[in-house]
Amino acid sequence: MGKPTGFLEIERADRKYRPVEERLKHWKEFVEPLSEAEVKKQATRCMDCGIPYCHNGCPVNNQIPDWNDLVYLGDWKQAADNLHSTNNFPEVTGRICPAPCEAACTLNIDDKPVTIKTIECSIADRAIEEGWVQPQPPEKKTGKKVAIIGSGPAGLAAAQQLARAGHDVHVYEKNERPGGLLVYGIPDFKMEKDIIARRVKQMEAEGVTFHCGVRIGHDLSAKELENTHDAVLIAIGSEQPFDFFAKSPGRELDGIHYAMDFLPQQNRRNAGEPQKPKTREISAKGKHVIVIGGGDTGSDCIGTSFRQGAKSVTQLEIMSMPPQKENKALSWPHWPLKLRISSSQAEGAKTEYSISTTGFTGEDGKVKKLHYTRVNAHLQPIEGSEGALDADLVLFAMGFSGPVETDVIKELQLPVVPRGRFKGLDATDRDYSLAASPKLFCAGDIRRGQSLVVWAIREGRQAAHAIDKFLMGTTVLPR
Ligand SMILES: Cc1cc2nc3c(=O)[nH]c(=O)nc-3n(C[C@H](O)[C@H](O)[C@H](O)COP(=O)(O)OP(=O)(O)OC[C@H]3O[C@@H](n4cnc5c(N)ncnc54)[C@H](O)[C@@H]3O)c2cc1C
Ligand code: SF4
Repeated sequence: MGKPTGFLEIERADRKYRPVEERLKHWKEFVEPLSEAEVKKQATRCMDCGIPYCHNGCPVNNQIPDWNDLVYLGDWKQAADNLHSTNNFPEVTGRICPAPCEAACTLNIDDKPVTIKTIECSIADRAIEEGWVQPQPPEKKTGKKVAIIGSGPAGLAAAQQLARAGHDVHVYEKNERPGGLLVYGIPDFKMEKDIIARRVKQMEAEGVTFHCGVRIGHDLSAKELENTHDAVLIAIGSEQPFDFFAKSPGRELDGIHYAMDFLPQQNRRNAGEPQKPKTREISAKGKHVIVIGGGDTGSDCIGTSFRQGAKSVTQLEIMSMPPQKENKALSWPHWPLKLRISSSQAEGAKTEYSISTTGFTGEDGKVKKLHYTRVNAHLQPIEGSEGALDADLVLFAMGFSGPVETDVIKELQLPVVPRGRFKGLDATDRDYSLAASPKLFCAGDIRRGQSLVVWAIREGRQAAHAIDKFLMGTTVLPR
């Protein structure tokens, strides 16, 4: 907690965005940090509410009241140590976490939660600036070798924990750079990529070896990894996109793409990394863009399209518009369903709710129109509500059905169920091991279905706990 009466004396204030017309000219982050004095004031608002629901609302169980108090007292170093004890990458979550902690904050009953995410980001950034984020190599090596397939937040968090426990950790990643969706999915304007590169360097100094450009189950056999390592963690994410229009008229037209064929191209361009061989470049420049699907991925397509110079961006959502304000008595301290306008939507996108795509038409093989019908609350078409929208580029951001099943999953014959979770496991399972072999473990989106970065970090940490215990018989790694 900060000051027991702080919330009565100080108004909630949060980070502001740079103006739209300015931020659309570049790919850099545009959130303005609060001053040190303001962050301290905001931490002061954390009151002695008795039960810190925020701590439970945060998937990594960050000890939020404790570091709020330390910031209030000006002890930033201890705040940083405390924060890193539960979260491997707080400078990441401080930027891109949707902050379920703030929904759970007691002050959110009055719609003025503590600005927890902003305080987290300030502590994490300060720790980096002050040089407090240093490699923590183990004092003793165990002689055990662990392979991790996939270097998204789940794989990275697990790798860091296991290397610090003294294991020889090898991370295999099919892309050119480690980071998973942190590097190739999330646009630079939401999080610049030197943040991940810095962590990769730290982890290399802690003993993690990254093998990039290696697709397991294709370039290198998963069985071989299993045979040559003491444990294998599968953290390959949930990369198979939904396509609800596979049989819709005009689906074959040029200009209709999955979000994840579009977004990584721009991140590669920004990094000066060549596109994948045989890639046809996709650009929104001068086009009427339609993004189908809400959520983070849809928003990222909007912001990327505007920065590329789209003529217009329209987002279509089949669900009805959520309420402006939640019913706290029913929702608090849980994550409420309510209308949220993302920073990308606020850059000028038009969002249409209760609308369903019925097909596409085009000229010379290229998409030109998207056809739609309005739907009722039961998602049934409303007769006579049909229409068409200009569409030169259509991006599908309708979520992901589970892992790609043509490499690791196929080779190891792992039993996945829809949305990517393994048979016999559910989100409350603490074990993280796979019945197929005692050496095999899984974590992240592949285990819990498409989710959040902060959940992937938690899964990586808990999988590391399970693996260390499996290898050593006991573990001191936190769960
Ligand atoms: C566009 C987009 C934006 C998002 N924005 C946010 C956000 O703002 N905030 C948030 O909290 N969450 C966001 N998410 C969700 C979040 O990114 C994921 O929940 C999280 O990254 C899952 O982590 P993971 O480690 O399980 O998987 P991933 O991050 O998907 O990493 C899996 C890794 O495995 C690699 N891999 C796969 N198969 C193989 C193989 N056979 N061999 C070798 N490597 C392999 C992949 O290349 C990838 O690097 C977003 C998701 C998307 C798609
Ligand atoms: S990781 Fe997310 S939920 Fe946890 S404290 Fe940070 S912003 Fe809140």
